[in-house]
Amino acid sequence: MLRSALIALSLSLLATAALAASGKQPAPPGALKDAPPQYTRFSMPELRRGFMALAFGSDLRIGAPPRGIRRFDHPIIARVIPGGRVDRTQAMTRVIEEYARSVPNLHLHVTTDAAADIEVRLIDEKDFNAALHEAFGAKVAKAFIKRTDPQCMTSLRSDAEGAILHAVSFIIVDQGEDVFRDCAYHELLHAFGLSNHDQRNPWTTLNQNRLVGYLTVYDRALLTLLYDPRIKPGMTYRQVRLLLPHLIADLGLAGAGRHHR
Ligand SMILES: [Zn+2]
Repeated sequence: MLRSALIALSLSLLATAALAASGKQPAPPGALKDAPPQYTRFSMPELRRGFMALAFGSDLRIGAPPRGIRRFDHPIIARVIPGGRVDRTQAMTRVIEEYARSVPNLHLHVTTDAAADIEVRLIDEKDFNAALHEAFGAKVAKAFIKRTDPQCMTSLRSDAEGAILHAVSFIIVDQGEDVFRDCAYHELLHAFGLSNHDQRNPWTTLNQNRLVGYLTVYDRALLTLLYDPRIKPGMTYRQVRLLLPHLIADLGLAGAGRHHR
């Protein structure tokens, strides 16, 4: 009897250690009513694990595999290209502006000029496959659709070092507010350089099993790390793994939430 109680106790301690995120809060004002609550404080390993999983690798790679970190190495200009049956241009612009406010190191601005670093194309679902064909050619579009059955998507072009040259995001606007918002927040993270997914991570919107639809404290922390000036395009997995604990500590992103608003 005593023995089984002890076993149960040690199991629950293990579970707590593996999932120590805390400071649970409801979704912020403006989120959809079904949006999941979020944790607002994370441990060093929780932030490291998410960053390493999401900043390296991607769903579909064309050409030579990028060696390391991908991110913009200059201020970012984003442009929303209206389209589709439901006009979500203003809503999309507000999402971009929220990222700009929340992560100042993005140096992100919205423009209506053609020469933007990130193009956000708003489209109806029925036009999605055709838009992929037009943008990437039939072969690539077909391979991508077959492999990932995407609902929205982002394509990055980067130079040999990993500096992003151009990003295009396709966001579906006619399948309801929740699909739109989830895509809007999710695809922008890809466009900034968090290219991968992590279906086992319970905090990021880059887990495709979750519908989030707002900018979480967790994803904001990952972007803050990616756009810290000490993280450079092309940095290797090993370099980043060594640097990350110092950055997380220095930026006050882990632990008791000393720097959290
Ligand atoms: Zn994705």
